[in-house]
Amino acid sequence: MIATCPHCSYVWRSDAGRDRITCPNCGRKFPRPAVDIVVLGRGVPLKTTCDLCGYPKAELNVCRIDGESAFVCSVCLKGATAPPHPQE
Ligand SMILES: [Zn+2]
Ligand SMILES: [Zn+2]
Repeated sequence: MIATCPHCSYVWRSDAGRDRITCPNCGRKFPRPAVDIVVLGRGVPLKTTCDLCGYPKAELNVCRIDGESAFVCSVCLKGATAPPHPQE
């Protein structure tokens, strides 16, 4: 995902799937923003790996995440689309 730091407006590519992300520019932590994810096709047999966890799966979901096409396994898709749980 493309993250934008709310503190210094630094933009970078961050790992998805974490509740909190750290800005590499100013080092501050902030909650992961909601991911704009669109599922284009579910359970598609693909010989590739999940773009989020990197594991090869028999079936992947074809998605568009923040405007970029991605192949995502069901586990990651569930995590990516679940509403964030504030833990503070
Ligand atoms: Zn920052
Ligand atoms: Zn995955």
